[in-house]
Amino acid sequence: KYLKAIEEANGELNAYVTVTPEVALEQAKQVDEKIKRGEKLLPLEGVPMTLKDNISTNGIETTCCSKILKGYKPIYDAKVWAILKKNNAILLGKTNMDEFAMGSSCETSCFGGATNPFNTDHVAGGSSGGVASAVGGDIAVFGLGSDTGGSIRQPASFCGIVGLKPTYGAVSRYGLVAYASSLDQIGPITKTVEDASLVYDVISEYDENDSTCEGRQGEPTYDTLNNDIKGMKIGIAREYLEGVREDVKEAVLEAARKYEEMGAEIVYFDLPALKFALPVYYILACAEASSNLGRYDGIRYGYKTEHYEGIHDMICKTRSEGFGEEVKRRILLGTYVLSAGYYDAYYKKAQNLRGTIIKAFDDAFKNVDVILAPTVPMTAFKSGEATSDPVETYLTDICTVPINIAGLPSVSVPCGFNKNGMPIGMQIIGDKFKEGKILNVAYKYE
Ligand code: GLN
Repeated sequence: KYLKAIEEANGELNAYVTVTPEVALEQAKQVDEKIKRGEKLLPLEGVPMTLKDNISTNGIETTCCSKILKGYKPIYDAKVWAILKKNNAILLGKTNMDEFAMGSSCETSCFGGATNPFNTDHVAGGSSGGVASAVGGDIAVFGLGSDTGGSIRQPASFCGIVGLKPTYGAVSRYGLVAYASSLDQIGPITKTVEDASLVYDVISEYDENDSTCEGRQGEPTYDTLNNDIKGMKIGIAREYLEGVREDVKEAVLEAARKYEEMGAEIVYFDLPALKFALPVYYILACAEASSNLGRYDGIRYGYKTEHYEGIHDMICKTRSEGFGEEVKRRILLGTYVLSAGYYDAYYKKAQNLRGTIIKAFDDAFKNVDVILAPTVPMTAFKSGEATSDPVETYLTDICTVPINIAGLPSVSVPCGFNKNGMPIGMQIIGDKFKEGKILNVAYKYE
């Protein structure tokens, strides 16, 4: 049913860049047999899903939607795919994304962007736009995306669905193609909070192959989903509401009122460190990207230029032809901030300010249980609007990037629509490893 639905809808949504019917049908057969034998199924068993195209799948093309990786088939599975396979979740295919996860609209993809199921003139968001478009458009039940500065939460918000960015280290990054390693995190994009909880509980396994991975701490989030939130303190940082469009602000404040009716206490507070978040993010993310993307040299992976004289010319031409504009911009920016003459002025300063932001959140969580904030300052823009001015686009990440800088968990849930019927999202942010708490608060709102 889902494979057929993909055939019908993918032309317009452009959510999938690779469809894997053989894998899906073989997995489905095994589940069928299990059902016939009368065996009990695991929570994700037989559930059709998708993986963002930066999650390594053994023998299945993994391109990061970049020309430089076209044709590249990994020789091992990412830990999350290995876990899902073990649980018999069914892989329908790999989904569209901004090239190397750099972007906020999915339009830097070498396959063209995924469109928004609510209105296909609008973008699905990014970078995990393909997953959000597929789940929102009912051509996958759930998907895994990656979130370096908002890439799970922002497209979920744009497509009116749920996106969970787990605590840094809760889910293994083994086999995730690295963008900015100290910020990257894999998480689920789903239709409901309950689904996000089910998927998170399964994928948050300790992994010895990722030295930063600790796995889920404490009980399964599913056990506490329906806990009473009476007396819970929900914080709103005033800075988070500045520069946000009026309809988005109104929807978030309306949600706060609903929480108050449920017996939660709304606590307003100041988080002045938030103003450093965007420049800190773009300096650190670009610096790490410039290092991580050094490996694409035409020798080890994917694309290689045809005509060249000597190795330097080959590497230079391969990278010039293989990478798109946005990726090149970030490699250059990153190389610049890491260069001997500017390291202290940019990279080191950004690292220091990262400490300030982490401490500000630490202090905030001494007084509140969770923080409520908009996910994005606006709703999904029209296709083509984001590509003209990169800095304008960077500014739209203001609400999501602080969470990655501080390594915190955050879930985006729908909280209304604008006057044109486009969805608005809010995020519930928690202290480290408090996925159970944020999903509980999100579930109560649904
Ligand atoms: N939009 C942000 C960026 O372009 C975040 C991307 C992401 O989370 N992968 O870097």
